[in-house]
Amino acid sequence: MPEPTERLDDGGACGEPFNPRFGGSYHGDSGGVERACMVFLAGCDLPAAWGSQAQWRVLETGFGLGLNFLVTWAAWKADLLRPKMLHFVSTDAFPPNAEDVLRSTSDRTNLHPLALQLRAQLWGLLPGVHRLVFEGGHVLLTLCIGDVKAVLQQQHFEADSVYLNGFSPAKNSTVWDVHALKAVARCCRRGTRIAATTLTDKVRDVFSQCGFMVHVTHDTAVKSNCFQGQYNPSWEPKKPACQPFLAPRQPSTAVVVGAGLAGAAIANSLARRGWQVLVLDAANTPASGASGLPAGLLVPHVSPDDSLLSRLSRCGVRMTLQQADALLDHGLDWDHTGVLAHDVDALTGVASALQQPAESAASEWSRTATPAQTAGAGLATGNKALWHAPAGWIKPACLVNAWLGAPGIVWRGNARVATLLPGPQGWQAMDAAGVVLAQANLVVLAAAYGGQALAATVNSAPWALQAVRGQISWGVRKVQHHGLDQAKGQAKDLPNFPVNGHGCLLPAVPGPEGLRWLMGASYERGCDTPFVKQQDHDLNLARLRRLLPQAAELLADEFNAKAVRAWAGIRCATPGRLPAQGCIATTSSGAEVWVCGGMGSRGLTFAGLCAELLAAYLHGEPLPVERRLAKVLMAGVPAAALHP
Ligand SMILES: Cc1cc2nc3c(=O)[nH]c(=O)nc-3n(C[C@H](O)[C@H](O)[C@H](O)COP(=O)(O)OP(=O)(O)OC[C@H]3O[C@@H](n4cnc5c(N)ncnc54)[C@H](O)[C@@H]3O)c2cc1C
Repeated sequence: MPEPTERLDDGGACGEPFNPRFGGSYHGDSGGVERACMVFLAGCDLPAAWGSQAQWRVLETGFGLGLNFLVTWAAWKADLLRPKMLHFVSTDAFPPNAEDVLRSTSDRTNLHPLALQLRAQLWGLLPGVHRLVFEGGHVLLTLCIGDVKAVLQQQHFEADSVYLNGFSPAKNSTVWDVHALKAVARCCRRGTRIAATTLTDKVRDVFSQCGFMVHVTHDTAVKSNCFQGQYNPSWEPKKPACQPFLAPRQPSTAVVVGAGLAGAAIANSLARRGWQVLVLDAANTPASGASGLPAGLLVPHVSPDDSLLSRLSRCGVRMTLQQADALLDHGLDWDHTGVLAHDVDALTGVASALQQPAESAASEWSRTATPAQTAGAGLATGNKALWHAPAGWIKPACLVNAWLGAPGIVWRGNARVATLLPGPQGWQAMDAAGVVLAQANLVVLAAAYGGQALAATVNSAPWALQAVRGQISWGVRKVQHHGLDQAKGQAKDLPNFPVNGHGCLLPAVPGPEGLRWLMGASYERGCDTPFVKQQDHDLNLARLRRLLPQAAELLADEFNAKAVRAWAGIRCATPGRLPAQGCIATTSSGAEVWVCGGMGSRGLTFAGLCAELLAAYLHGEPLPVERRLAKVLMAGVPAAALHP
């Protein structure tokens, strides 16, 4: 639940924001903006220190109302020598209240527009890591909600600047104790600048115990002491053995094989960091494989034990929603409709597991459907159903084309890669005749099921992938009004929103002929040919009868008259039903082959997330998810084979 904030003067809207839990004012003795500029930015020699760098990584303890982030973002925007990517990682035990964040900047014309953008993304902040994206993906806020020690153990990156923020040690000792500062020190390199608001004798001892050399300056503008210093331990700091990073590298050229959701997302994430990316695909247009699906569902997964899949799916859904919002035509290429999940078998226990208080962060993701939502799907009130608010449908090809359209990406079709060989200029991607199609020091295989055979050309350990054929049935909507059957109090048209649970119905997706409905999908393991079968239409109708009996009644004639149309494709799944990515081959000169695949039935959820994770690994950036979740995605690929 967001942290409640009070106002110090008369309880009105303009007083100093005050946190009743810690009994402390958010702004200390001075204005929050002045404090952010003088104590933190100036204390870390910003913006000068980041001038002309490719990336800059700020770590803050104590997000509070987000002012330090907003001020740093504004400084980045105003600086002609700004780094291409600004990472701001901030921890807080409690999520901020979005309205308070906005109110804090109401008298600051330069910060208020940024605060509006921040507020729009401050939702569903459950404990864990949340990646918020601004400035077309060049300013990335990684908000870590939870105890500072625990959340920093779930990160691995080297901060360039550290802001030690938070209430004084007397009010909130946990962010100033030796364990918290050791966790901060683990995220520092020698020379990382640090700025803090507090320095008691005890904290000074803890600082030096953790390797920070700190001195005091008095700032007249903020009428208080500021504390600045550097991470410069007298010993050689040990990095945790589990740190998976290769040395962070400079962007150069990369080849991505596959122009579906996975490949396009990777190309986009790399290009945004300054890489020149060539995307090769066997087909003559992008999104010709599974990503040619006319429209698909973007929806969080829920489970009674909040499984790894559920947690990863929330991170992925948040990321794709941000991308769709920024890049696609709302209502045409995608729609943020919300999705009803009909618990057809009432076996999952999901509905009861999600009886969350209405104002909780969990309920901003998924909550029990209201009677009006259930009736809107033509279901009787007794049916168990969930409402997922951050959900909707997307045309994958639109997202693929938008991602591929970024500067720095070249797409080449009719380029089927048959093998990869190490060469003098990195890995060579060759066709079946042995012609070199492209070469680069970094090759990423995002060719779905086709990636398995390609991976085998560089790594003898098999990459376990499975082809799963699927078919959707679709038609054009005849009734386009949403009248209610007064007698039953239920919709007599198709629902206004997608319904998921036993197959899924997308009731209204704009197409050239009008609004389409789509029902899917069949699931045939081990089949890697996307042919269309009448039998699968029958299966889709049977699914629809269980999922939404009333909608099935409306569409049965079309199915029975064999008037429905079909689209079939091949999903690519891993045994663990989660995507898998990692480096599978490397040469002595450091040229690497990475794979990213196994998107299964959730390419819309996972492609963007996997791409950002891959880029984070390549650049030693903060992770967009907890490390334990990232490791799950890295686990499904063979260990890297070494090539001379
Ligand atoms: C019926 C059905 C319904 C689905 N519904 C949903 C849904 O509702 N929501 C959702 O999120 N997901 C859904 N999916 C899954 C989603 O479509 C996939 O997860 C996603 O498209 C996979 O993207 P990809 O880039 O990994 O693979 P693909 O889109 O298949 O792209 C792989 C690309 O690699 C190319 N390629 C392969 N081999 C080579 C080679 N040797 N050389 C060069 N190029 C090569 C191919 O031509 C292809 O373009 C559905 C899938 C199906 C089949």
